[in-house]
Amino acid sequence: MQDIINRFISYITIDTQSDPSSDATPSTAKQWDLAKKLVNELEEMGMSEVSIDENAYIMATLPSNVDHEVPTVGFISHFDTSPDFSGTNVNPQVIKNYDGKDIVLHAEKGIILSPDYFDDLRQYKGKTLITTDGTTLLGADDKAGITEIMTAMEYLINHPEIKHGAIKVGFTPDEEIGRGAHKFDVKKFGADWAYTMDGSQIGELEYENFNAASAKITVEGRSVHPGYAKGKMVNAILIANRIISSLPENEVPQKTENREGFFHVHSLTGSIEHAEIKMIIRDHSRALFEARKKTIRDIVSKLNLNCNHAIDLEIKDQYYNMREKVEPVFHIVEIAKEAMDAVGVTPIIKPIRGGTDGSQLSFMGLPCPNIFAGGHNFHGKYEYVPVESMEKAVEVIVKICELTAFKS
Ligand SMILES: [Zn+2]
Repeated sequence: MQDIINRFISYITIDTQSDPSSDATPSTAKQWDLAKKLVNELEEMGMSEVSIDENAYIMATLPSNVDHEVPTVGFISHFDTSPDFSGTNVNPQVIKNYDGKDIVLHAEKGIILSPDYFDDLRQYKGKTLITTDGTTLLGADDKAGITEIMTAMEYLINHPEIKHGAIKVGFTPDEEIGRGAHKFDVKKFGADWAYTMDGSQIGELEYENFNAASAKITVEGRSVHPGYAKGKMVNAILIANRIISSLPENEVPQKTENREGFFHVHSLTGSIEHAEIKMIIRDHSRALFEARKKTIRDIVSKLNLNCNHAIDLEIKDQYYNMREKVEPVFHIVEIAKEAMDAVGVTPIIKPIRGGTDGSQLSFMGLPCPNIFAGGHNFHGKYEYVPVESMEKAVEVIVKICELTAFKS
């Protein structure tokens, strides 16, 4: 257990926050710090074909140790952390034999990780938890995944009696800003399919995610002295307000779950002269996803009739539901399920309310379901991971490699 804790801590204490405002890959130079360390470790543990390209995408191979033909399986994680919360000076706390009560993250600031708010904590009574000190995120998303893949590869190298085909490992930058898969060379990777180790709690197995688009709405107003404004002023703020209030009130993230889609306005800036709304559109169903985009277009065209086309709308598709790419090769889900059963983990299969590297990769020709990495409360100070969940993820990876060698 201590090895996995040490490895994990050595990764999370390196700041790798990504930055959506940068066009570079990786989006922040500091991601190289961890990337280079990972390359060294892969080489040191004896992986083959270890490579890192100019965009910091890392790939490595564990060669097959059987004579017969076996499909090539890949495992993928991202080493950046979310821009939503600081990843600088992560100072983890290791809590052994968790007593099921409140965990004080930061005494002075009164920051408490409590099962009263985060009831998932209760299931980890008696386990070893790694938490933050209340001032940063933890980075279990997705350095838990990297830790697990590394540990599993090392285990397979040290246990040649476990038979497996060729195994590919891929670590990417910038997943948190939606670009983890953009420059991933699927052909070079050379796997028949892969799994992202990027899910949350133990047991998660996901092969459905949102269809996703972003929308930017710009309103051009006309500022005139308010005392002389009648018939002249066009107030961009008020138009922006009407656009937002025309959206279906209950179809928002805080009122939807499971396969229910939503509109999510996440930024509004404005003056009389100029206002800007940014939102995202999400739905598991492709048909409903298209209908949501039409709803926004209709709202804008209708309002545009009354304000002399002051409103401009730009919608961009971001990613699609991987289900349509995974269903034709459903055995890849079944192998993961079987691996979990074999190591005593109950599979929790549910649609992702988000996207993963895997959804984009699936559409690039690499079907790629998502498996738990074990962490909870991603992207904030309450993030934590039970070490036992990471250990189970390692076992799942090893078992998938083993099962694949005897399924062909
Ligand atoms: Zn992640």
